[in-house]
Amino acid sequence: MHTAQRIASLPPYLFAEIDRRISEKRAQGVDVISFGVGDPDQPTPRHIIDALHAGADDPATHRYPSYYGMPAFRVAIAGWYERRFGVTLDPGSQIQPCIGSKEGIAHLPTAFVDPGDVVYVPDPAYPVYEIGTLLAGGRVEFMPLTPANGFFPDFGRFDPVPGTKIVWLNYPTNPCASVATREQLQTAVDACRERGLLLAYDNAYSEMTFDGFVAPSVLECDGAFECAIEFHSLSKTYNMTGWRIGWACGATQAIEALGRVKTNIDSGIFDAVQRAGIAALDGPQEGLVELRAMYQRRRDLVVSTLRDVGIELDAPRGSVFVWVPVPAGHDSASFATLLLEEAGVVVPPGRGYGPSGEGFVRFSLTVSDDRLEEGLARIRKAL
Ligand code: PLP
Repeated sequence: MHTAQRIASLPPYLFAEIDRRISEKRAQGVDVISFGVGDPDQPTPRHIIDALHAGADDPATHRYPSYYGMPAFRVAIAGWYERRFGVTLDPGSQIQPCIGSKEGIAHLPTAFVDPGDVVYVPDPAYPVYEIGTLLAGGRVEFMPLTPANGFFPDFGRFDPVPGTKIVWLNYPTNPCASVATREQLQTAVDACRERGLLLAYDNAYSEMTFDGFVAPSVLECDGAFECAIEFHSLSKTYNMTGWRIGWACGATQAIEALGRVKTNIDSGIFDAVQRAGIAALDGPQEGLVELRAMYQRRRDLVVSTLRDVGIELDAPRGSVFVWVPVPAGHDSASFATLLLEEAGVVVPPGRGYGPSGEGFVRFSLTVSDDRLEEGLARIRKAL
């Protein structure tokens, strides 16, 4: 049996590797606390679960779903975009539901990248932008995100190599936890539109912002509908990571191309889950206020504890992460190993998110309050 060359070129998925190390430690009897994956610890709101139950009880949902998503779900997405961002979407041609945004993100390059084509990916970043590109036979150029550039690429100097097809951006960003303003996003839209490139914007954390910051949609920018596709997800906003539901929206041509790939590969999202998605988007949004307050409280606890042990860092204004510079004398892997060995705490080393992630580790805030406090107390002691 011979696997394909493209599999050989894939790194192991970062969190698959981290899960392996956690299991190893637990087998040794260590009480491991994971500040690893960004997976909300809070339950999905009741009214969304009720909609799933009612949907599952209806035999009409038991057959193949529509490839393009339920019309009512696309209408609910359009309504939410209008209320939240003031952006008008045509439910028929500008929205494509996905089996979690990860699925759409991974498949986008299949629609746009021929072997040898180039995709610009933030560095560090959510690994799937790079992996989707590699699976399509493309090549990645990194756009470093560092404290020096305020974690935002300088599009005034953007000089893409020949063969470039897609530029990825993600704010509030995983893993750097930085945010971007609409004015900053406009520089990216202008640069991509002028050059005929697709701007792929991942807005999975748009609702996870603090200190009053309100995250924009890239589709608010002038000219965005000519060049941009935005990915969105119910995972973090409504604590629905297990449900696998998200969507892409924006430029009609990009939505049509992604839809063409998806209709040939998958058969859509269980209709009962889409009905639950409608309940999430159309239902009460007060839970979000509490959720933000909870993450902000946890963020403050992480930031103040780390400052107390001598690590200098700013409090991030978005995402569910804190991007932490490692102390002098460490690299990201050695510091992550120290925290695991001395405190039984797992944090992903920043290097796992790209070369410019070296020198950082990422703390996730999706850990229950008591485990977060326990983990931080252990870190305080260890350092
Ligand atoms: N985008 C970013 C930046 C993420 O961090 C994640 C998940 O952690 C996703 C997309 C995928 O989310 P989902 O597939 O659950 O919608």
